[in-house]
Amino acid sequence: MNKQAVQEAEFAPRLVSWQRQHGRHGLPWQCREPYKVWLSEIMLQQTQVSTVLDYYPRFLAAFPDVRALAAADEDKVLGLWQGLGYYSRARNLHKAARQVISEFSGNFPHSRVELQTLCGVGRSTAAAIAAFCFDARETILDGNVKRVLCRVFALDGDIANKAFEDQLWRKAEALLPLNAADMPVYIQGLMDLGATVCKRGKPLCCSCPMNDLCQAYAQNRIAELPRKKKAVSVKNLSLYWLVLRNCDGAIFLHKRPAKGIWGGLWCVPCADSLDDLYQLAAKFGCTAEDLTESIEFTHRLTHRQLHILPFAAQINTGQDAVSSAITGEWVSSDNLNTYGIPKPLYDYLNVKQSSLF
Ligand code: SF4
Repeated sequence: MNKQAVQEAEFAPRLVSWQRQHGRHGLPWQCREPYKVWLSEIMLQQTQVSTVLDYYPRFLAAFPDVRALAAADEDKVLGLWQGLGYYSRARNLHKAARQVISEFSGNFPHSRVELQTLCGVGRSTAAAIAAFCFDARETILDGNVKRVLCRVFALDGDIANKAFEDQLWRKAEALLPLNAADMPVYIQGLMDLGATVCKRGKPLCCSCPMNDLCQAYAQNRIAELPRKKKAVSVKNLSLYWLVLRNCDGAIFLHKRPAKGIWGGLWCVPCADSLDDLYQLAAKFGCTAEDLTESIEFTHRLTHRQLHILPFAAQINTGQDAVSSAITGEWVSSDNLNTYGIPKPLYDYLNVKQSSLF
């Protein structure tokens, strides 16, 4: 057996035995129930474990199974997702729950390929569910796993390049344990190794089970592998908020269109320019003099830097007059928690609650 083959053959047994001894155990989603595993996998995308530990039990208490989630109103789902960000995940979760009911009679499919047909479920997520719940010999390949593979096997390529990514998938598949019963521990081990030992900065090589197999370690190339992605170009965007409060202290919110920034969430009326903001305010009977300008702040989305400038106004007209201008709802501060609201608006309203008006 050549050196490369030895390395590949050693990888899974070492990882499995390391995970049993040193990996993460006792997380609430470490079980064989596809609904719970799927929910955790979606929440964990772009979100840290510590944050998910806070949201997961609440979500599960509200929607204990896929039928409860499918039957729920989308606004309730978005409300419980509030603060987790990347709201398309919540919308897809809701759609996928309905798919499980309508296309799979309420039972999650077992194969990775069928799981991938669910809304918002990519290859890696589908593989994790199939492996954790049904012992399927399928591999995940998220950012952490890519980093481990690039280092252990000194794979030097552009992570954003499709051909290189295909190479990583092939490598990851070649490493799977032969015994399918080891799959849940193995996949958890892949996740744990990348998250807790082979970290992006300052990996803990001395306590790593792959230490003597790792080519990046042997070649002193840890800092250069994996090769850094090119920085994404970020577009600056100005947004003007019209923050209206009525005589009862309630805030006017309307549901944003499904597509675009904060799609489907509840937000104050927004404009792209000051002129448009004044026109919007006029629809509510407000002139420029009625508006109080707040301090501008920024909020970063994946490819956009938003520069948000809120303008506040007190509305004395009745709700009917406002409703005819833009469809929306007056929401009391006590009820804000039950609406799916963009994080920056939620933070802004909480901070400004007592001082704005
Ligand atoms: S030895 Fe270091 S670089 Fe190599 S896999 Fe382990 S932690 Fe990562």
